[in-house]
This record gives sequence, C-alpha cells and structure tokens, in this order.
Amino acid sequence: MKKEFTNIKLEDLNKVATEVENLISVFLKKENRACVVFLNGDLGVGKTTFVKSLGEKLGIKEVVISPTFILRKDYGNLIHIDGYRFDNPGEGAVLELERELEEKNKIIIIEWPEKFVSHYGLNPDISIDFKYINEDERNIFLNIL
Ligand code: ADP
Ligand code: MG
Repeated sequence: MKKEFTNIKLEDLNKVATEVENLISVFLKKENRACVVFLNGDLGVGKTTFVKSLGEKLGIKEVVISPTFILRKDYGNLIHIDGYRFDNPGEGAVLELERELEEKNKIIIIEWPEKFVSHYGLNPDISIDFKYINEDERNIFLNIL
C-alpha cells in the first residue's frame, strides 16, 4: 500500500505521524517481532523532525536529539537510529540490533538505512520517503510493505 502527503508544513507533520502510528500499531498487533521503519531523503529534509513528532504520538516526551551525533537512542519501545556516520555496513554491528529485531512491540526507526542495513539483511515494514519542496514544505510518501 502506498500513500502520499503533499506540501506538508511543520504543523501538518503530526497528521502524518498519526497515520504512521496507526500503521505501526496495526503491525504490532499482528506480528511477534519489531516493526522496522526506514526514513529516506536528503540531509535536512526532516527525518529527525518526523521521529520527534512520532515520539509525541507514542507518548514519548524526551526531546529527540537531532542529527547525526548519536547512532542509536532508545526511548522505551522506540529505538531511533541514524546511520549517517557509518562508512561501511559492517560498522552497523555496534548497534547490536539482533535481539530487538525479534522482540514484540519494538519500533525501530532508521535514518540513512542504506548505510548499514545490509549488515543485518534488513528490509523495512514501512518505508517513508521525504522530498524537499521549499523551505517550509515537504512531500512525504508512505510505503507499507
Ligand atoms: P534530517 O534528519 O532529515 O537531516 P532534520 O529533521 O534534522 O532533517 O531537519 C529538518 C529541518 O527542516 C528542521 O530545521 C525543520 O524545522 C525544518 N523544516 C521546515 N519545514 C519542515 C517540514 N515541513 N517538515 C520537516 N522539517 C521541516
Ligand atoms: Mg536526521
């Protein structure tokens, strides 16, 4: 299933986050493993900002620390990963995701998945593409696999 949101401003992001939160919750009810979400798109397009918005929907109050200094941050059942700084997929081993991928009710949301997921042979359950339209607006495409 595919869904497209066009000309999304910052204040509209929660609408997309609500939709994604629903999709994740349907997934987690059915499956006995983690839900893997890929976030695709250029630097500064709004991937981390989206994680923050999704975190709010999930009732996570801590601020999601922005870009690329932290590889992995856990907020209860939500695990936020930023692969930007990996130079080769093997470095993804430091994330030690094997156990959590098999755990029910975990959400693993990944920026720059292409940098390391081959190390885990990982495919997304939900893949989200962000496209820059102008300073304030983005197009967001959901792919539900
Ligand atoms: P990324 O994680 O993709 O590198 P960030 O989320 O860190 O990007 O940064 C996106 C920047 O763009 C933030 O400063 C954010 O406030 C700004 N921005 C402006 N409009 C939007 C929008 N519609 N959606 C997401 N971010 C936006
Ligand atoms: Mg980011």
